[in-house]
Amino acid sequence: MQLGLEEVSWQAEIAPDFLWIAFALGRRTDWRSVNQPLDIVDRLMSGSDDVVDGRLSSFARVPADLRRPVREALKDAVPSAFPSNFGHVLGLFPDCPALWLYDDWLLRNTPDPEIGLPLLRGIVEDIQYRGSVWGTRARLAALVRLAINDKWKFAAGTSFETVPHYPHSLSSSEQKQLESAVRAAWLAMDKMQRVDDPDLGKWPQSFWSQCRRLAPCHVSKPESEEPLLVEDNAGSLDPEPLMRLPRMQAIIKALDGLGDALRTAQTESADEPDADPANGVVLGFASRLYRMLYAFLERPSIWVPDQALLYLRPIVDSRIVLAWLISRDEPDLFLAYQGHGRGRLKLLREHVKADFGDRPDGEAKEMIDRLDARVNLEREEMVQEVNVGSFTNVTPRTMAEQAGLKSEYDLLYAPMSSINHGEWPSLRDLDTAPCEEPLHMGHRLGAFRAPSRYVSVDAPLRGFELARDGIVEAFRFYGVEVGDAFKSLEEALGGALPEGDESDGGK
Ligand SMILES: [Zn+2]
Repeated sequence: MQLGLEEVSWQAEIAPDFLWIAFALGRRTDWRSVNQPLDIVDRLMSGSDDVVDGRLSSFARVPADLRRPVREALKDAVPSAFPSNFGHVLGLFPDCPALWLYDDWLLRNTPDPEIGLPLLRGIVEDIQYRGSVWGTRARLAALVRLAINDKWKFAAGTSFETVPHYPHSLSSSEQKQLESAVRAAWLAMDKMQRVDDPDLGKWPQSFWSQCRRLAPCHVSKPESEEPLLVEDNAGSLDPEPLMRLPRMQAIIKALDGLGDALRTAQTESADEPDADPANGVVLGFASRLYRMLYAFLERPSIWVPDQALLYLRPIVDSRIVLAWLISRDEPDLFLAYQGHGRGRLKLLREHVKADFGDRPDGEAKEMIDRLDARVNLEREEMVQEVNVGSFTNVTPRTMAEQAGLKSEYDLLYAPMSSINHGEWPSLRDLDTAPCEEPLHMGHRLGAFRAPSRYVSVDAPLRGFELARDGIVEAFRFYGVEVGDAFKSLEEALGGALPEGDESDGGK
């Protein structure tokens, strides 16, 4: 705990140190191919306090005068331990701490990226994820070397006691237990080692940055969906690529009918003048829900999951604010809502004026006059306060709770906000793609993909429900029932796409 909790990344800061171990173990996990060469290094290093555990950085611990004898001993006893193809890998990295193992080879050979990079990609893909089997075994191989040399201590009675016997003298469940203990403990142990040896992280860092120069980024073009416009043999364009025209016409007819019905129904709500501010706000919100629903439903090309939310989010927003205002039903609150908006408009007019300078002319003058008229439409601007905050200090979340719409907030408003604001997970999933070059740690680049064209009625139905519930509630505020006015639209919408097949756009 004293070492701090900032996480050391296995992939970025540790894994490149294990390239040789992983290469030597191979996919068959041949432990001898790691232990035989390192036994030889140990023998030549006997008397030294340092241990070479197979990590590339650890090879730097071999003193300069021992390096030639080590190379020769290895070549005689285990020539396969540092073969030519791995030389084409390490040779690409002039600062690799183990490169001296190839000093003789490099006199006669030039590292070839055509050979080295494909091999390197394979190794990196095997070990770069923390939980991978091969990464775990590579770590164990190094631990075994440290344990053999009495360089690694562990509490008695833990599964780490079995490390020197790994893997052949352990049952498979003992092996599994040890592997998971190693995964959990490695990062903490590595951190302690870094306190002793601050250079430990240099090689991995340098490795990854050189990879960016050795191999270019690679992002495939996303597979394209059905084209929006399909050319037929005669060369004309398919006029209804997403949905059959009659279905769309039915929806628009139902929307128009609904608008007529609501416009008429609201006249029954004509109240005392005292209630004007409240009525203007409540019916205005109901009308806004209707307009936003209309805009959404008449554009089937927007009924695709990654775009629909841009339309749904303001619908949820209005649904919550309206429900909250109705549930509070306080005249001052409606006035505060209106006053706040007017103040914002007044502020905007000031900004526009300042932007146009002292003597605005022509179009600029016209624009300011229009703004002046809007600012003064209801009352003298002298009496208007400018408040740059919001009209109430109640957050949308609290509004939703107080209006009984908590699940609408949690399941719609919050996630849609994160998507509309382009928060990272949304950006990541919709707008980035991992670089496919295995040597780049899967960093992400822009995907530049077209929006999906798989139309689904899920979002339109959700938008319909939200707008309907909000509008019905607004009219109930006046004791008027308008639920039946939504029936024909619901039917038209239900028949918009063929059942069980949402992706063919009705073809
Ligand atoms: Zn890349």
